Amino acid sequence: MAASTAQTGSSAESVRSVPQVVPSSTCLQCDVCCRFPDPDSPLRPYFTAEEIVRAVTEGANPDRFPSPRGCQITLIPDQEGDGFHCPAFDPASARCLIYDRRPFDCQLYPLALMWNEHHDDVVLGWDSKCPFMGEQVPDSIRRYADQAMIRLNDSDLLRTVADHPRLIGRFQPDVVELFRLPALTRAVQTRWGATPVHRLTLEDVQRVTDALDESGLAGGQALAAYSVPSIYLCTTLLGYWWAELRGSLCLFAESPDGWFMPLPPLGGGPIQEAIGAAFDLMRRRNGAGSPVSRIDNISPALAARLEVLGYRLQAGEADYLYRAGDLATLTGDRFKSHRALCNKVERLEQVAAASYALRDRAECRRLFQRWQEQKQAGALDSFGRLLLEDAASTHEIAWAHGSDLGLSGTVVRVEGEIRAYTFGCWLSPATWCVLLEVADRSIPGLAQYLFRETCRAAASHGAEFINTMDGAGLAGLSRSKDSYHPVMRIRQYSLLEDHVS
Ligand code: SF4
Repeated sequence: MAASTAQTGSSAESVRSVPQVVPSSTCLQCDVCCRFPDPDSPLRPYFTAEEIVRAVTEGANPDRFPSPRGCQITLIPDQEGDGFHCPAFDPASARCLIYDRRPFDCQLYPLALMWNEHHDDVVLGWDSKCPFMGEQVPDSIRRYADQAMIRLNDSDLLRTVADHPRLIGRFQPDVVELFRLPALTRAVQTRWGATPVHRLTLEDVQRVTDALDESGLAGGQALAAYSVPSIYLCTTLLGYWWAELRGSLCLFAESPDGWFMPLPPLGGGPIQEAIGAAFDLMRRRNGAGSPVSRIDNISPALAARLEVLGYRLQAGEADYLYRAGDLATLTGDRFKSHRALCNKVERLEQVAAASYALRDRAECRRLFQRWQEQKQAGALDSFGRLLLEDAASTHEIAWAHGSDLGLSGTVVRVEGEIRAYTFGCWLSPATWCVLLEVADRSIPGLAQYLFRETCRAAASHGAEFINTMDGAGLAGLSRSKDSYHPVMRIRQYSLLEDHVS
């Protein structure tokens, strides 16, 4: 990837280092590496735990690594333009600021590890997107790959890659397969099993949504989690994987502590067999008896079915469900204070709501940063601060992919400037779900106004109910949600490993 600030190469780790084939002079003129069109690019570099430590020692911001155990780095928005770049990349000089300590993933490029199309073999390929590689004769590419192959058969490196399967990318048609890597395939399958497990990408969201529909979990009183786009918003924080297990599609989330399922097995397969296979897979990842291994967001109806089958469920947080008509009109004494706050905003000059468009992203990002500072200045406990920090990357995904994901966004401008925005989606034809809301806290009543306008728009499109998710374990948020008089709380249940009978 990006050119070095000092072309020594001597401090690169002995076992990991792969000789660089692309001259720095070429890299300096190129605008492909280290820059990405989207915040969730599957190609953003992966750092192992020790590579994170080394990068942080070199000055990288630890907050850019969602998991200290190994993760893809969180990209940052370009100051100029609409894209993103690696935080270790200096756009002014087009150089990597940690070049001598860059991770193996970057050292290997423009070669890449990936699964073949059938996901049964790890292969070494070369990325035809690299302009330098595109110009070279195949012999020079092969010679470079031969050198890399020597490194890739090193037992330490095999172990490292097997420990960090995210180093192996998904099949990409524009990466040319050069060599099969049977020893690496064996190492990975011995460690994690032979069942193909795929990284969830934007393109997979529809597949999971179809399986969710087939499972019959979605409906008027569905949990907010039964919206795959809402799950995908956290993709740069958690990293999701999916696998077909016993006729069901099983979705897994990779947290810093281990793997869990954010949804029950989906589709039409026999549920007991799928649950058994899913816990087997989580045991491989987390070890036996891990408290992290669990299935979350089991609906009350499915929980009742599972209890009949002998499973014991643990009750968790509950979503807030409201009547859309109540929130669209805010009539009666019980909504008096909310109404008064909305009226305050209506008295301001030039207040207008409009649909979010991608061109609003930079302005929304500025507002988000201001809102984040306002929240941090208030009374937030440590958990609240953590959630607030994580929110930045979920909002980036909504701004970038809202329409691809089927989310609908609304911005509120006050005197021409965006001072509030929201994103949501339909859980069913009768239920609108509010996923994200940001309102400038220096304008009293703006949050209430934004919420009422959202509910009005949803009601005018046929919504009978509004789901605002759960209280996220935050007392203040729960108080605010309670104040709107929910018509129902929809409890979610979890199935833990030691509760599988
Ligand atoms: S670590 Fe360096 S080489 Fe790798 S993507 Fe970031 S800037 Fe580029």
